[in-house]
Amino acid sequence: MGNQCIFCQIIEKKIPANILHEDDLVVVFSDISPQAPTHLLIVPKVHVPGLNDIAEGHSALLAHVPLVAKAHARRLGLAGTGWRLVCNCGPDAGQTVPHLHFHLLGGGPLSGRMA
Ligand code: 5GP
Ligand code: ZN
Repeated sequence: MGNQCIFCQIIEKKIPANILHEDDLVVVFSDISPQAPTHLLIVPKVHVPGLNDIAEGHSALLAHVPLVAKAHARRLGLAGTGWRLVCNCGPDAGQTVPHLHFHLLGGGPLSGRMA
C-alpha cells in the first residue's frame, strides 16, 4: 500500500515536502495547496486510510495529534488568534487522500462554520 500512497511516499522521503516536524508517530508538513495563511498537515506514519479505520491500537497516536497541533499553533503564534484542526472522512467530507491526516488551519479568519 505504501508504494501507492502519496503521503506514505512523503513519509518515506521518496517525494519532497516541506517537513516541519517528525517524531515516532507523525510527520508534519505544509499543505501543497494552502486554504489558509497557515495550513499544515499532521500525518500519522502508519498507513491508516481514514477515521473509519482507526482502532484501539491507535489511541496513543490519536492522543498525540492534538498535542502536536497545539505545539505548532503556539510556535506559529496562533494560540491567541485561533486555529482549527480538521479531519475529513470520506467523500461527503471531501477527503481526497486516503491516508489519515489532520489539517491545522489558521493565521486569519477561517471561512464558514464547520458545524
Ligand atoms: P483531504 O482533502 O484529503 O482532507 O486533504 C488532502 C490534502 O492534501 C489537501 O489539502 C491537498 O492540498 C494536500 N495534498 C495533496 N497532495 C499533496 C502533496 O503531494 N503534497 C502536499 N504537501 N500536500 C498534498
Ligand atoms: Zn499511506
